[in-house]
Amino acid sequence: MLDVLIVGSGPAGLSAAIYAKRANLSLEIAEKIFMGTGQVAESGQVDNYLGLPGMSGYDMGEVFRGHAESFGIPFREAEICGFERTENGWRAALAGGGSIEARTVIYAAGAKHRHLGVRGEEELAGRGVSYCAVCDGAFYRGKTVAVAGGGNTALDDALYLSELCEKVFLIHRRREFRGAAATLEKLRERPNVEILTETVIEEIAGEKKVSCIRLANGRTIEVSGVFIAVGMQPETECVKDIAELDGAGYIVADETGRTSAEGFFAAGDVRTKQLRQVVTAVSDGANAAISAAEYLRKI
Ligand code: NAP
Repeated sequence: MLDVLIVGSGPAGLSAAIYAKRANLSLEIAEKIFMGTGQVAESGQVDNYLGLPGMSGYDMGEVFRGHAESFGIPFREAEICGFERTENGWRAALAGGGSIEARTVIYAAGAKHRHLGVRGEEELAGRGVSYCAVCDGAFYRGKTVAVAGGGNTALDDALYLSELCEKVFLIHRRREFRGAAATLEKLRERPNVEILTETVIEEIAGEKKVSCIRLANGRTIEVSGVFIAVGMQPETECVKDIAELDGAGYIVADETGRTSAEGFFAAGDVRTKQLRQVVTAVSDGANAAISAAEYLRKI
């Protein structure tokens, strides 16, 4: 039986693993995607992580993973589909069958992209509908695209795409943006960016691939791609019966990572917090590992 099972190989999980290893705990990281590094890999340039200015999100993820690997931390490609309390800790059920037993769990599974929920979105996913501008932007070089959303991701995506695409429509359902004013200012200065506020996308249409979007105001805009950046949804389906979640589905936990379930810790984007960034995920991982070590000492 492991001392700690870490779920997720993003910055929170990797940081937790390094701290747990240094605390002499036996551990394993379960990762849904083989050789994954989490959401950070989808970021363009990350300019706000201390000590690594201007590094691409992909490279940053690789550096983090390489650091964990250099400690000999074992990874297992496995999707966890549920948890069960046992006499000595936790049993994590694997989607492909089988289970992993551990005295404690550090759950750092992150969040996935929220969907817009409009006609055509699911059918045209991967055929013009994308949730990652950095991953797919290059396919739309010289073309017209739309970005949906009003947070930092949407603004960053629109800025990034404006460097590649002939024209970018940034479409937001409200008048006010949640994203940074500085980025919005840069977008307003770009001649190939058109910002449409108080505008709702009703349908994404196209035969085999996206050809246009239809707006609630009756307008149709011809586009080759639609980048959906309307926030994230925490990966908490498999923990909803064992740990308390907040109204938005995040695991209720403070910076120690302690949850309502004994010996079950949450770290990174998956927990309730003010700021979801690489730096806070790394910090969460460290805290959760120390909390797990303390818990194990006590029991
Ligand atoms: P977010 O801040 O939650 O913004 C989501 C946006 O999508 C909101 O503007 C929201 O509209 C809109 N939206 C949600 N559901 C929608 C729907 N069904 N139809 C239309 N619009 C919808 O999410 P995010 O931009 O992914 O950012 C997540 C976190 O990461 C934030 O804390 C953000 O600051 C951070 N982040 C930071 C950076 C950076 O520092 N450079 C980059 C990316 C992300 P309303 O405004 O009307 O609710």
